[in-house]
Amino acid sequence: MMVEAGEPTWRGKQLAEAIYRQRVEGLSEITTLPKSLRQRLTAVGWEVGRPKIAQVFKSVDGTERYLVQGQDEDGLTVETVWMPEGDGGEAGDGSGIEAEWAGETGSRSRATICVSSQVGCAVNCRFCLTAKLGLQRSLSAGEIAGQVVSVLERHGVEVGRERVNLVFMGMGEPFLNYDNFMAAVRLLVEEVGLSPQRMTVSTSGIVPGIERFAGEPAEVRPKLAISLNAPNDEVRGEVMPINRKWPIAAVIEAARKVRLRSRERITFEYVLLGGVTDQLEHAAEVARLVRRTGLPAKVNLIAWNPGPGIEYTMPQAEAVERFRAALGAEGIAVYLRRPRGRDIFAACGQLKRTVEG
Ligand code: SAH
Ligand code: SF4
Repeated sequence: MMVEAGEPTWRGKQLAEAIYRQRVEGLSEITTLPKSLRQRLTAVGWEVGRPKIAQVFKSVDGTERYLVQGQDEDGLTVETVWMPEGDGGEAGDGSGIEAEWAGETGSRSRATICVSSQVGCAVNCRFCLTAKLGLQRSLSAGEIAGQVVSVLERHGVEVGRERVNLVFMGMGEPFLNYDNFMAAVRLLVEEVGLSPQRMTVSTSGIVPGIERFAGEPAEVRPKLAISLNAPNDEVRGEVMPINRKWPIAAVIEAARKVRLRSRERITFEYVLLGGVTDQLEHAAEVARLVRRTGLPAKVNLIAWNPGPGIEYTMPQAEAVERFRAALGAEGIAVYLRRPRGRDIFAACGQLKRTVEG
């Protein structure tokens, strides 16, 4: 853009620095650019800034859920979640977070931002509230990266000094908005300065997306999480109709193509639905399935979070513990994700722009 305006390329670098590092809210704030240039850019209609946080919901556990204003005329908002102490899903991811949990560093060092990739979702998983919205639209790269920039600014996070984890696990299916999602990741790595090794993208199992992802260079490739959510194709096909298009074996085959970094593991997310996926025989099947993949993997268990109009039941606390213990006894690395912000509808699968809050 700067080159088109007849400026040298390093002016572009200054502009990116102002937007992504200094997190400015307008061209007038960018004093590294000559005033005449700023006026010229304004005159031809350029604007810079970051997405507005239109509404904030605060949980008793410190989690905050935001409605973030999109850039389109449609006025749609997306949801972004700030978890000051993560959600437990970071444990065992090779990032050394366990040491931090032991209290070696400040509480900030394990904050996690949960980022949306679309408004709503087209995938239609039966247990997920976001699915009820349908797909409203995909987000642009700027809208995806912008959620992070706005939340970092809200909390005064100094990138480079404080460590922040990103999970692309908000509204939407990132791999059905692949180009914008990956463009956002590149902005977050190259301009904002975050590490892709502290980012995790979760997919419901979009095979062509996983295959493209496998081809991304390590410098800009987040870690991969797959929403397994069921012990076999039969149950998975019921709770996630997408499984009829891309069954478990196809998803695993695609995931195998990702060249993992040293100590990197693939995460299998597993939502425990009372009576449906939380039985001991399911745990045995999951253990066999994960072992058979031969992949370095860990399983993140998520107790199902309820939502209006969804017919499942929460798993009993004892069933959750039994399931976890059974996987552990089979030698599977297993972690229980703590539900964050349930009281403000910020927990997994609860994002649906519940403005009435
Ligand atoms: N669309 C992607 C990214 C969203 S991640 C995906 O599905 O992977 C959201 C995670 O929360 C997924 O693992 C999903 O299985 C899980 N989830 C969805 N609804 C849930 C609910 N009501 N309770 C708990 N977990 C849920
Ligand atoms: Fe979409 Fe993920 Fe919800 Fe499924 S679980 S409907 S893929 S957001």
